[in-house]
Amino acid sequence: MNSNAESPFKVNLHELPRRAGEFRQYRLEFLAPQAIGVALLEIPKSEPLGISFKAESVDGGVLLTGEVISHARGECGRCLDPIDFDIYQKFRELFLYTSRAGEVEDDADEIFSLDGDIADLEVPIRDAVILAMPINPLCQSECLGLCPVCGLKWRELEKDHSHQASDPRWIGLADWKP
Ligand SMILES: [Zn+2]
Ligand SMILES: [Zn+2]
Repeated sequence: MNSNAESPFKVNLHELPRRAGEFRQYRLEFLAPQAIGVALLEIPKSEPLGISFKAESVDGGVLLTGEVISHARGECGRCLDPIDFDIYQKFRELFLYTSRAGEVEDDADEIFSLDGDIADLEVPIRDAVILAMPINPLCQSECLGLCPVCGLKWRELEKDHSHQASDPRWIGLADWKP
């Protein structure tokens, strides 16, 4: 591991012959240089990331097909309990040879191109990880969330839990007897 600030997401594909049909297997393992995720769920900085993929030479570029494995942490969108979430997400991305990148129409989806023999996987991996994450992460699918008045968890409260008796508008009536 050299000490310069080169991104660990960059992989050198110089061993892959540029002949359609040739392929090589690659495996990257490193600690996330920064958090990857969404508001309530993320792979924290320094969490191990494993990326294994096949790089296959195709006409005009290299097709990468593989998966990313890691572990995310966050909080339940309803009760705010901490949650753990395993990331196992497949990805498939075409990297064009630099000489071919200009031939692609502008309105195509995000285009990746090789920098010489270097493929930078950061954006494809980030996209794959975020795709793997639920939009509204929950501690369990049946999480009942919090009582909106006292903020306690419904699952820890009595079934008939209610605030009506202590609602300030009723306090004056509490001792009232007809
Ligand atoms: Zn919850
Ligand atoms: Zn309550």
